[in-house]
Amino acid sequence: MSQISGKSVIITGASSGIGEATAKMLAEQGAKLMLAARREDKLDKLVAEIEAAGGTAAYQIVDVTKQSQVQALADETLKQYGKIDVMINNAGIMPLSRLDQLLVEEWERTIDINIKGVLYGIAAVLPAMQKANSGHIINISSVAGHAVFPGGAVYCGTKYAVRAISEGLRKEIGKDIRCTIISPGAVATELTNHITDETASKGANQLYEIAIGADAVARAIAYAIEQPKEVDINEILLRPTAQEL
Ligand code: NDP
Repeated sequence: MSQISGKSVIITGASSGIGEATAKMLAEQGAKLMLAARREDKLDKLVAEIEAAGGTAAYQIVDVTKQSQVQALADETLKQYGKIDVMINNAGIMPLSRLDQLLVEEWERTIDINIKGVLYGIAAVLPAMQKANSGHIINISSVAGHAVFPGGAVYCGTKYAVRAISEGLRKEIGKDIRCTIISPGAVATELTNHITDETASKGANQLYEIAIGADAVARAIAYAIEQPKEVDINEILLRPTAQEL
């Protein structure tokens, strides 16, 4: 039986892309899922699909910029499944633009979702995991958490922050609780749909011509989860073979 079977797993940003692909893959391996995002129609459809295939899943409408909603997500998971084995802090946005475009409101949202959302996710599950002396927090960073490119200053800043926070978390609570950073390159999802700056959008569309499927990231996440308790996969960096950045 898969090591994933029976694990209670929360996924934020589960309504599309990497979160959705991960939900499907972990459900196939017997995980009990609690899926979170803002778009209820997408979550509802995904849960129905997973259940029709014999899997276990439920959802909560959550805006990760609201700490109370992220806490309610963890509380509901404990209520339904009795434990939280894995928290996947995946929700994120990438509205690329050069700093001199002064899209300050987008900077704010990127920081709120990509950094504070991850911190709220950690805060929501840490007490239960510490009480259980067991748990696994998986944070989605990026190749953009390893390299900075023009137009990516703020996004890269948030993804560097996710790596720093994850490494701090590992050092502080790593004895019993595992901490994994997943850093993908270009993956075909809805992520580039929300770039409002025309030049940045064109650049991203060019880079994403070689994007790989979200199932590649789902497999990396499953690999980290399925290791025995004493093995902590600290980071997986994966790219399309053809990606230079
Ligand atoms: P998608 O745009 O397909 O998915 C993003 C998810 O985040 C959606 O489910 C969206 O759901 C959710 N989300 C956005 N804002 C919020 C919010 N405020 N509260 C709750 N959920 C929110 O993109 P990806 O699947 O690609 O992105 C997933 C993660 O992977 C992100 O952190 C991204 O930075 C990272 N990543 C992606 C790469 C890529 O090339 N695709 C490369 C490297 C990292 P909803 O709108 O319903 O709330």
